Amino acid sequence: MVSQELIEILRCPACVREKPGLLEYYKEAWLICQDCGRKYPIREDIPVMLIEEGDKWVQMAKESLPVPPPRA
Ligand SMILES: [Zn+2]
Repeated sequence: MVSQELIEILRCPACVREKPGLLEYYKEAWLICQDCGRKYPIREDIPVMLIEEGDKWVQMAKESLPVPPPRA
């Protein structure tokens, strides 16, 4: 799993310059931005903090996110 320390320092790369970009750690599989709704997958314990990756999932309700996230 991902360490709590890492979770706490990560921010949404799309929001961090202008907003807090705080992330919700969801089902140990996703990080969900509380500002823009982008969702970043955690693959093999590594959060994939790429804006283009977050964009893929922005419209999906968090309840519908696949767990674990699919391969890139
Ligand atoms: Zn964001």
